[in-house]
Amino acid sequence: MPTSAWFFFFGEAMTQTLNPPRSQGPVTQLDNDQVNRYKRHLILPEVGIEGQKKLLNAKVLCIGAGGLGCPISLYLAAAGVGTIGLADVDVVSPSNLQRQVLFGTKDVGEPKVEAAARRLKDLNPDVKLIEHKTIVNSSNVMDLIRDYDVIIDGTDNFPTRYCVNDACVLQKKPNVYGSIFRFEGMVTVFAPHLKNPDTGEQGPCYRCMYPEPPDPGSVPSCAEGGVLGVICGTIGSLQANETVKLILGLGRPAIGRLITYSSVDMEFRTYKIRRDPNCPVCGNHPTITKPIDYEQFCGVPILDPKSLEETKQEAQRAKHGGNGQPAPASNLDPRGLPPGYAFRPDWEVTPREVKSMLDNGEKFYFVDCRLPNEYQITHIAGTELIPLQQLAQNIDKLRQHQGEKIVVHCKSGGRSMQFTQALRQAGFKDVKSMAGGILLWNKDINPGGPQY
Ligand SMILES: [Zn+2]
Repeated sequence: MPTSAWFFFFGEAMTQTLNPPRSQGPVTQLDNDQVNRYKRHLILPEVGIEGQKKLLNAKVLCIGAGGLGCPISLYLAAAGVGTIGLADVDVVSPSNLQRQVLFGTKDVGEPKVEAAARRLKDLNPDVKLIEHKTIVNSSNVMDLIRDYDVIIDGTDNFPTRYCVNDACVLQKKPNVYGSIFRFEGMVTVFAPHLKNPDTGEQGPCYRCMYPEPPDPGSVPSCAEGGVLGVICGTIGSLQANETVKLILGLGRPAIGRLITYSSVDMEFRTYKIRRDPNCPVCGNHPTITKPIDYEQFCGVPILDPKSLEETKQEAQRAKHGGNGQPAPASNLDPRGLPPGYAFRPDWEVTPREVKSMLDNGEKFYFVDCRLPNEYQITHIAGTELIPLQQLAQNIDKLRQHQGEKIVVHCKSGGRSMQFTQALRQAGFKDVKSMAGGILLWNKDINPGGPQY
């Protein structure tokens, strides 16, 4: 039978016990409540009582209780997956509620794993929830995943993805991978210890697909690029589905197949992906035999401490009124910059300097290089909108101001620095980027202005 190569066994055979207490040892039979709860499963010959017992005895770890982790854990709990671990260090913030369907308004400010456990326990008391209120890194990942049968990657950053991948390869755990961005998503199952059901070859791992992390800052996150909330349900449900299939030993798992989804085109595509025999972790001669320093490898932190702090503040404000808008910033240095900001005076101006230029009636050309939809959310009066992407088409317009002082701003300072560098390369002399962008402006100069 083709599925035998990747078939899983959960729990151990038990001697018959009458009505065993649910919380002790593997489930060997279903009680009446369980038969009633799961009867839509039981009537499927491919699941049946035996399959439902496999689900109840399965242990699944979902890393990330965000956009993907929410639908994943909801469906797995509803399906009766007996032990669900959730790993996430974040708290619920108002901007999560657009897509993170586990949480409600009353959960804002609470640790996600606690709010999630409460909701999932209410959904299905059969499920044992294990809360891992922690970031996942090289020092804890091996212990974290050890007791689980299937690992689900619902994270949103590269260091954690490589970390989870390597640990799963090393411990021979299937890694049900999903990711989302804007209107698109992708799903696959990484499991080099199992066979591609179509080819009989060993499956690939995340490193086989992405040997190198992207350059730091080159791939925008969902916070930067946005994400359609509904996408989380589509991709998360597919991950939950692959997980249930793995537990049941059902059908063809997506090993060696990458399924992409474009919601705008309503199109799924399947790409074959193969194991790389030279892969440093799952290849024939692995050089990675234990977790490495993933923050160093990727050049970015797993968790931006600044963003965690901002999430906490956003949640605090929502809980205590104020429409989620910030109070006047108190944690800025005397120049009005965040503590530790590496200010480059030859390339940048601070929002306070720009404000005093405006107040003094100083003549300069003030460019907002964000996108029109961002401009609509919030903008500074007197700026000219020239999106970074349209710099080349607007170079003649900019040339009319070449003799003037030019200040460029964006959301938080990254794009405006690129814009500034491009103009200087084009021969512009007096052009600078506004440090911290409009988010810092809305903290320091225009408190109460939107943070998005
Ligand atoms: Zn590999």
